[in-house]
Amino acid sequence: MTDTRNLIILGSGAAGLTAAIYAARANLSPLLFEGSQPGGQLTITTDVENFPGFKDGIMGPALMAEMRAQAARFGTEIVQATVDRVDLGASPFEVRADGRTHRARTLIIATGASAKLLDIPSEAKLLGHGVSACATCDGYFFRDQRVIVVGGGDTALEEATFLTKFASRVTVVHRRDELRASKIMQERARANPKIAFVWDSVVEEVLDVAQGKVTGVKLRHLKTGRTSVLETDGLFIGIGHEPNTGLFKGQLELDSHGYIRTVEGVKTSVPGVFAAGDVQDPIYRQAVTAAGTGCMAALDAERYLESLRHAPPAAPDAKVPSGSGSRTA
Ligand code: NDP
Repeated sequence: MTDTRNLIILGSGAAGLTAAIYAARANLSPLLFEGSQPGGQLTITTDVENFPGFKDGIMGPALMAEMRAQAARFGTEIVQATVDRVDLGASPFEVRADGRTHRARTLIIATGASAKLLDIPSEAKLLGHGVSACATCDGYFFRDQRVIVVGGGDTALEEATFLTKFASRVTVVHRRDELRASKIMQERARANPKIAFVWDSVVEEVLDVAQGKVTGVKLRHLKTGRTSVLETDGLFIGIGHEPNTGLFKGQLELDSHGYIRTVEGVKTSVPGVFAAGDVQDPIYRQAVTAAGTGCMAALDAERYLESLRHAPPAAPDAKVPSGSGSRTA
């Protein structure tokens, strides 16, 4: 057991690091656990063209490295560990990582979301052997080869467009005949001569598990029911994301898709626990909105700590070190 902190932040994506920057500048001395994907989803993105302040765009990993350095500069203690248990019923809250239990008066949950998979046995068996959910991580391995991307949203089209840098041919397989992706992404993909589309179809099986590599996919046309085999050397899954909320089930109110329910901005169902970024946002899911909610969570955590300081003396854990309310920005 360690000393009780003012604030523990779970997650090191745009939401977690922005919360850390604000909290550290407010003298809350936050402790931040980076989690299993330091830097979050932006580290597996190429160009970020829509984050304000970078007119020529910035690479995702570079943006996250800047945010991390900024959080550290103001005194955030960043720990390279993944939290494996939280107790939100305890007072102060308890957070366990690497076998140690840490305590905090407030928590900011910014654990993000992870890529969804198709959930078919052959996909799991060939993951890392031709099946991937991250074009920017694995695209390089498919130089002059054929690849398939599943999905019809921005993720799928961004991956497809990125993959044309390496692959000889990229086929987007989508379960409907209409894309969900933004207009600009659609135009870019449709104008790319290396990209083809297969509509109204789903991947039923990834071939060939017996060979231990991807040689093709078995497709089913949803309108005709007909099946066919499309040869390919790689399969990229770009069908969206799932919130990383397993740790909080039964402790916080979640919506039907598992996202943390927030009210009045970033407040969760437990006072003193705030949620920021994709873990609570099934709608916008942008770096800039994640950063925005991270800022909101830090300001709310600070106000909550301030309210504890003025609470009646009955609350034994309500002691907040002086200076914790002196926000400088
Ligand atoms: P979306 O939920 O927008 O799209 C998921 C796509 O995958 C949909 O086309 C969906 O089909 C399809 N799909 C879902 N499940 C399955 C399944 N089991 N089998 C086959 N197909 C499936 O997720 P995205 O990750 O694409 O985008 C999420 C958010 O992030 C959006 O707001 C997007 O704008 C944003 N984003 C922005 C980027 C950027 O600006 N650079 C890059 C990537 C994402 P259907 O359409 O039929 O539901």
